Amino acid sequence: MIRLSNVSKIYNKEKSNAFQALTNINIEIQDGELVAIIGTSGAGKSTLLHILACIDSYESGEYYIDDTLIKNCSEKKLAQIRNKKIGMVMQDFALVDDFSALQNVMLPLDFSKSKVSEKKEKCLKALQAVGMEKFAHHQSNKLSGGQKQRVAIARAIVNEPSIILADEPTGALDSKTSSEIMELFKSLNDAGRTVIIVTHDMKIAQQCKRVIRIEDGKIVD
Ligand code: ADP
Ligand code: MG
Repeated sequence: MIRLSNVSKIYNKEKSNAFQALTNINIEIQDGELVAIIGTSGAGKSTLLHILACIDSYESGEYYIDDTLIKNCSEKKLAQIRNKKIGMVMQDFALVDDFSALQNVMLPLDFSKSKVSEKKEKCLKALQAVGMEKFAHHQSNKLSGGQKQRVAIARAIVNEPSIILADEPTGALDSKTSSEIMELFKSLNDAGRTVIIVTHDMKIAQQCKRVIRIEDGKIVD
């Protein structure tokens, strides 16, 4: 379960350019939910997602994942939580261009002490789950946008996280490819994962079981 109580985020706190990006956010998301976060550009969607992903801090309130309070944690602890519980997917795929699909999916396993053969097997399984096993040895910059996003999703699920966070995952894709990627998120959700998708696209949001709207750093709906 994910729980935010009264979370506020201020960029550049105590400087002249301080900016309050989130104000008193309260959200509870149960395991296995499929949630869209919508709102206009600059509303604070990515900021919220980065806090959920434990890659950004917040100034006040509390954020819990299960029973762990994500606050004042060491970098090591945060890295552990991210690695075990969270898979992240970005709009621009964030793949290493001159790595193969397999090498990209392998990245989150870099710190794992398992045997390379076991790691490879895990990666191939993840690529299979997104329909990309045939492309394992293709260089990622030679893939289409939709294929790149599938590889990025394989990378996000390779550690079998319970939570998948996606920031405008279909923002760079045509509408047919967007629906295919959305089908993939839905199947990950059907398999029991919590999936949270930031999106501009109402067609994507409508397919989520719950929609959270955020405006000027506040939840309005
Ligand atoms: P969205 O994803 O909804 O478009 P963001 O969460 O990226 O919005 O940004 C929310 C607001 O916070 C915007 O006004 C943006 O300019 C500001 N902001 C985002 N990141 C930073 C940062 N690192 N420093 C200062 N302001 C930021
Ligand atoms: Mg954004």
